[in-house]
Amino acid sequence: MSAKKEELGVAQEVLSYCGKCKLALAHVIIDMKDETTIGKCQCKTCDAKHNYRDPEVVAKKLSKAATRKKVVVSIEEVWKDAVAKTDGNAKPYGMDKGFEVGDLIDHTAFGQGVVMKCISNDKIEVQFEEALKLLVCSQG
Ligand SMILES: [Zn+2]
Repeated sequence: MSAKKEELGVAQEVLSYCGKCKLALAHVIIDMKDETTIGKCQCKTCDAKHNYRDPEVVAKKLSKAATRKKVVVSIEEVWKDAVAKTDGNAKPYGMDKGFEVGDLIDHTAFGQGVVMKCISNDKIEVQFEEALKLLVCSQG
């Protein structure tokens, strides 16, 4: 047996990205495409069998996707998402009223917003289409 560094083969261990574990983990080669190209491998952590995925290539793709995501997710989308999760019945906003997280409120100046957080008994954080605002309210 020669001890060439690049030698690969079935039953050998290789570092591959696992789509189930979402990590680069030790895998066992179960199929070779040719002498130097890994076909399929099996994750030693979750036993999933899948095509070999070079962890470096996957890491690059993932970081690209993450960058793209950051650009795309705007405050408007966060707002739309939040509104979609409410029951759709907007309560008119008033300083003397109490609100709960997840409530859809109607503000005369800012429009519709969703209560994201109760900061204290008299302050709520509300996501409006334009911005996240701190509003005064009267809880309980
Ligand atoms: Zn796995």
